[in-house]
Amino acid sequence: MKLGFEEAQIAYSSGSQSARSWTETWVRDQVFCPNCGHTKINPFPANTPVADFICISCNEEYELKSQKTKFGNKITDGAFRTMCERLAASNNPNLFLLNYDLTQRSVRDFFVVPKHFFVREIIQERKPLAVTARRAGWIGCNILLNQIPDSGKIFIVRGGNIQPKDLVLAQWQKTLFLREEEVGARGWLIEVMKCVELVGKLEFDLDDVYNFEGRLKSIYPNNMHVKQKIRQQLQVLRDRGYLDFVSRGHYRLRSQVG
Ligand SMILES: [Zn+2]
Repeated sequence: MKLGFEEAQIAYSSGSQSARSWTETWVRDQVFCPNCGHTKINPFPANTPVADFICISCNEEYELKSQKTKFGNKITDGAFRTMCERLAASNNPNLFLLNYDLTQRSVRDFFVVPKHFFVREIIQERKPLAVTARRAGWIGCNILLNQIPDSGKIFIVRGGNIQPKDLVLAQWQKTLFLREEEVGARGWLIEVMKCVELVGKLEFDLDDVYNFEGRLKSIYPNNMHVKQKIRQQLQVLRDRGYLDFVSRGHYRLRSQVG
């Protein structure tokens, strides 16, 4: 994998348009499919509304968003209602996020958010456009990047360093089980995964996770049995090989690879 854009011959005229062409070409030429490891992913024909790339080996679809500044807490996306419909139908693409260095014309950070991390909890409804706007009343949405657990941000390039392909593929496989959960149940699982990440230890106790009871209550105010729900989710995460039960009330995260 090379990190520099090959299209240096394209005159740097209208900034974002050239950059879009560089980043798309880079993905096409350099990126493997994080789902199946196929060495190439292909662009969709122009004007396909759903996604930008497809793996012809496993049919996994990808959308690309690129910018020169680091991604912040949220990213602006399309129509709120369309997003909700896609989540309900589970036909949203995986999301590639690319940060580039404009002066070096090369990739700084490149990571993928697998589509199974897209749940209602990370989609923020924006205010309708003002009556004076061309599309008055239109409602867009934000993707709340800071609400996605680390396990849902799989880096292929981090800070200019290429990550080993084996590690990328292993990280992807590790959370694929989420696809088998329906979207409502997935939200809870992902929230508990986030709490476990916030505990920040390889081995932890049930009480460490119970400390986040208040946080979960604020996300799910109608749930009266948050502790019970936490125990259930930990059980699912164990059954899916995400963590192990060491002894009663004591857990250990599985290592990244394997
Ligand atoms: Zn593939």
